[in-house]
Amino acid sequence: MFSVEAPTRPAGATPSELVPSRYALQVGDIDVLVVSDGVLPLPTATMATNVDPAELANWLQRNFLPPDMFDWPLNVMVARSGQQTILVDAGLGSQFPGFPRAGQFPRRLEDAGIPLETVTDVVVTHMHMDHVGGLLAAGVKERLRPDVRIHVARAEVDFWTQPDFTHTDMPKPVPNVLRSTAKSFADTYRDNLCIFEERHEVAPGVVVRLTGGHTEGHSVVDLSSKGEWLTFAGDAMFPVGFENPGWHNGFEHDPVASASVRRGLFEQLADNGGLLVAAHLPFPSVGRVAREGDAFRYVPVIWDF
Ligand SMILES: [Zn+2]
Repeated sequence: MFSVEAPTRPAGATPSELVPSRYALQVGDIDVLVVSDGVLPLPTATMATNVDPAELANWLQRNFLPPDMFDWPLNVMVARSGQQTILVDAGLGSQFPGFPRAGQFPRRLEDAGIPLETVTDVVVTHMHMDHVGGLLAAGVKERLRPDVRIHVARAEVDFWTQPDFTHTDMPKPVPNVLRSTAKSFADTYRDNLCIFEERHEVAPGVVVRLTGGHTEGHSVVDLSSKGEWLTFAGDAMFPVGFENPGWHNGFEHDPVASASVRRGLFEQLADNGGLLVAAHLPFPSVGRVAREGDAFRYVPVIWDF
C-alpha cells in the first residue's frame, strides 16, 4: 500500500494541504493512488450537445449543479506493479491562465511520497491538454527520468497530425490550444514515446487498450490482479453519462462512437463488478457501475480509512 506518512520537508517549504486530495487502494497486488489535479470551470452546455437545453437544465437542477458553468473534476492515477511506477494521465498543468485551480498533481504526488523522479512509465489516454498539459508544466520534464516511457496509441499520435474538429462543440478558443498543446507534447517527448497499436501490457496486470471515440486514439487502462479489476476510463464518461449514456459531449471528436464506447464500458463493468476511475468523475472517482433500466447508476465505494 502507498505510504500515507508525510515526507519530511526542508525548512520553509509549504505545509501539506488541509485536504490532501489523494485516495489509495489496492487491486490485488497492484497499489493504486488516485490524485486530484484540481478542477476546470467549463460551460455546462458542453455536457450535452445533442439534447434540448431544457433536458440538461433539468439534469443540472436535480444534481444541485449551477446552470451555466460547472467545475469539471480532473483526476490522474498512479499504479505500482512489480518494479514500475506508472502515472496514468498528467492533468492540465498550471500554465493555462484561465484555470488557476488545476495543475496540482506534481505537488500532490510529492506529498504522497512519490516524486516525479520515481515514475518509470506514463500512460496517456489521449492528447487533450487536460491529460498531457501536466507534462509540459514548468520543471516537470526536467524532473522526470530521461528514459521515462510514455505510452500512447499510434492512432492518437497520427490523429493530432491533422485533427478533425468538425463534430466537436467546444468554447471558441479551445481547439487552437488543444492543437498546439498536442503538438508541443509530441515534440517535447518524441524520444520517450512508446507507441502501441491496439493493446499493450505496460507492467504485470496493467494493460492499456485502444477504444477510440473521444479522440481517434483514446485508450483506457485495465488493472487486474488476483481476481480484482479496475478500469481507468479516461474521457469515455462524464458525470451525466450514467443516466444518459447517449448524450454527446462537446469535446468528443466522434460523439457517436464515443457513446458506443461509453455504453460498452458501462456494460462490461456492470457485468464484472470491477472498479471504475475516470478523469472527470468527482474525486476520488472510485466506484462501480450498476444497470438501471436502459441506463446505468454510479455506486461510489465506501471510504474505508
Ligand atoms: Zn479530459
